[in-house]
Amino acid sequence: MFIDTHCHLDILSKDANPGAILDRATKQNIQMVVNPAVDISSSKAILQLAKQFSQVKPAVGVHPNDIHNQSIEEIIPSLNVLSKDPSIVAIGEIGLDYYHQNTAKELQKRVFIEQLLLAQNSKLAVIIHSRESLTDVIQIIQTHYPAQSMAGNVRLRGVFHAFEGNLEDAMEVVKLGFLIGIGGPVTYKNAKDKQRIARELPLESIVLETDSPFLSPVPFRGQINEPANIKIIAEKVANLRECDIKQVETVTTMNADRLFFIGDALVRE
Ligand SMILES: [Zn+2]
Repeated sequence: MFIDTHCHLDILSKDANPGAILDRATKQNIQMVVNPAVDISSSKAILQLAKQFSQVKPAVGVHPNDIHNQSIEEIIPSLNVLSKDPSIVAIGEIGLDYYHQNTAKELQKRVFIEQLLLAQNSKLAVIIHSRESLTDVIQIIQTHYPAQSMAGNVRLRGVFHAFEGNLEDAMEVVKLGFLIGIGGPVTYKNAKDKQRIARELPLESIVLETDSPFLSPVPFRGQINEPANIKIIAEKVANLRECDIKQVETVTTMNADRLFFIGDALVRE
């Protein structure tokens, strides 16, 4: 079985039936999807979806592009309450976005740091979004978690989703104890850095994600993405590594299971 570690099913469901989307995924052996939130209202909607569909593993969090100048006092107490739901598998997606930068950098940083702390206190994984901000994201983690991953001392576990850096950056992130999310862009012709990461990073450090409805893989580039397309991404990774897709399936599913503690993926293999 495969796990889509980053699927905005709540956004997809605005124009389509979530049950049908999940059925198409199941037919391709994608048995679980982690649904990250972008703000408080999507966090609530995702929790509802998870109650309807057992394949949906919800995350709650506020995306750096969706802070909309809310204060820490408005955001964190609500998230704190939501994160107590036993179905929650992560805090996310959270991070910094200097590309869109519709919120001041300082406020983005404070909201990010508070959410890291919430994840640590609730022993949840984090799903990190970083766009043109990788240096600051890494620096924040190093500053606030100085012993992170030193001698296996991982206080904060998580994934850098839609990873924007090169192989050297990815190795630095892995050294900090985090995983790297690989999605549709790895199939794009000019995505040399992403392909190099998929080829050379230890498979133990990789999880698969669609970021649906965004970032469809070739040959569906530009169309609406959905979790069934994980299979195409896995095939590309297997191709790049010159290994069997079964190996990509087994190891990346184990990684996702270890990261989010979502059940018996190990046993099912
Ligand atoms: Zn996303």
